Amino acid sequence: MPAAIEAVLLDVGGVFALPHPDMIRSALGVDFDEDRAARSHYAGAAAIDGLGRGEWSAYFTAYALEAGVTASRLRVVLPALRNAFRDPDDVAVWSLFVPTAVQALKRLHQAGVGLAVVSNSDGTVEGLLRDNGVCQVGEGGGTCVSVVVDSGAVGSEKPDPGIFVHALDVLGVDPDRAVHVGDMVHADVAGARAAGVRPVHLDPYGFCPLDDHEHATSLDDVVELVYASRVMSTLTSSPSAGPPWKMPLSGETSV
Ligand SMILES: [Mg+2]
Repeated sequence: MPAAIEAVLLDVGGVFALPHPDMIRSALGVDFDEDRAARSHYAGAAAIDGLGRGEWSAYFTAYALEAGVTASRLRVVLPALRNAFRDPDDVAVWSLFVPTAVQALKRLHQAGVGLAVVSNSDGTVEGLLRDNGVCQVGEGGGTCVSVVVDSGAVGSEKPDPGIFVHALDVLGVDPDRAVHVGDMVHADVAGARAAGVRPVHLDPYGFCPLDDHEHATSLDDVVELVYASRVMSTLTSSPSAGPPWKMPLSGETSV
């Protein structure tokens, strides 16, 4: 039986931030809204995972098609789309924030689990999260986390287990007491597994065809996972105590 979750590691792109349609609408030559932009991102992530490696050309193709670009226009659109992203880790593009995820992060903090960000970026993700009120190390406008590990700053990127180990060391939590939430199998699921951390694949639209790992449709699912792990841990550690929500039978005194 899994132990209670003591820490949650979190990806950024595809969890808190998505490519903003305003940054890429002109490149695509189609009008699409934020909902479509979100769906397009996860279609792109699934295309990358379909290849089993971080091949961003697959991302751009799937993104464009999902956003409404016709197949006949792909040859024209893809170079423009790639240019709009410039670098896939460019934080200026990753500026569509997910309010429900920001709120769920607060709930995770309230739940008392350790929190760490583990992101493949260019050394700027900590500022992006702080400036947009998502989270920061110490007090600030967002949720307080223990560490923001940026691959560009530490020289190790997912799926290398080293980046996860760095976060766990700061948290002081064993890998088997942590989960990592991310939107890509090749980086997040594989990387977490390599570090001995339980992976949770954030896949809101159900694009992932694999059933060999856990899925979540939102960060709210992870909050529920944390509380569920505590209940399960309590039951397995003291089975004679009965469930904490046990209702008194007739004649029993409720305490
Ligand atoms: Mg991501």
